[in-house]
Amino acid sequence: DRELGLLMDKLLSQAPARLARNNQSVTAEELRDAITRNELFNEYQPVVSLVDGELASLEVLVRWQHPDKGRVMPDQFIYLAEEQGLIDDLTRWVIAEALQQSLRWQKAGIHCALSVNLSMENLEQLSFTDWLLKALEDADLKPWDLILEITESRPMRRPEIVLDNLTRLRLKGFKLAVDDFGTGHASLAQIRDIPFDQFKLDRSFVHAAGKERRIRVMFESAMGLAKELGLEITAEGVEDEEDWHFLRQHDCHKAQGYFIARPLGADKVGDWLNHWGGETRKALFPHLNAS
Ligand code: C2E
Ligand code: MG
Ligand code: MG
Ligand code: MG
Repeated sequence: DRELGLLMDKLLSQAPARLARNNQSVTAEELRDAITRNELFNEYQPVVSLVDGELASLEVLVRWQHPDKGRVMPDQFIYLAEEQGLIDDLTRWVIAEALQQSLRWQKAGIHCALSVNLSMENLEQLSFTDWLLKALEDADLKPWDLILEITESRPMRRPEIVLDNLTRLRLKGFKLAVDDFGTGHASLAQIRDIPFDQFKLDRSFVHAAGKERRIRVMFESAMGLAKELGLEITAEGVEDEEDWHFLRQHDCHKAQGYFIARPLGADKVGDWLNHWGGETRKALFPHLNAS
């Protein structure tokens, strides 16, 4: 039974990667060139507090503007970067670009934490923590302005180095989030041993949690676990007003999803903030004395 369970876990966890691999549309060579030719760009998706609607952070999501194939989404090339030894360059490009953008926003009066996605490969490099600290210093940000989202898309290959990096990052003040909680490889043992302070609950447990009992039960047990451990929960995939109200009733901390905003080009964030901070937020939080 145990073996069957392990096999099922393995098959399920590999399904998305295999789908992506079947799509032969981009190659490692093209991706390598894309990084040096600046064909990558970032979008930014707001994460807001469910308590008062304030912007909590902007999640940095990379895209690839391919010269002939048009826009390629990360699900189509991140696994390739991870497999082909390109993820280090890619991650460093994404973070450096986001930090520069943060400087531009700061000049325009927008101060906001950034959430960035890390791959296991990044954390399996001993030099990663030092690189990140240096990059942050150059951008006038503090470690607590960065939330590091970690998806365990596969088991760790070098758990001692990962643990070493994560512990150092946490001690420096970075916030650590388990991404896609409920669908990754993260076992309870890893959550016990690694000093995470947030969960991002996968959208498959969020959207429709108020409508379908099975989803609600899983949502509630994840919330219970997080609360007992004193962790913050961000709900992903908040797609409609019903999701939003359900999450507020369940004391979930933060929300992200199309109901709030799609991932936005850097130049669209200011407009979104004006819009959200005005009418929308007033309508969703009528009790707040809008100032
Ligand atoms: P993620 O970190 O879980 O990011 C959330 C994904 O959900 C994004 O997909 C976002 O566009 C999508 N999303 C947001 N709100 C909703 C919603 O309400 N409904 C639905 N159906 N989807 C929503 P995206 O941008 O395609 O990114 C996919 C994944 O690629 C990310 O999942 C992340 O794991 C990975 N990724 C993106 N950028 C990076 C990066 O710079 N580095 C690494 N290592 N991974 C990245
Ligand atoms: Mg993420
Ligand atoms: Mg993810
Ligand atoms: Mg996620």
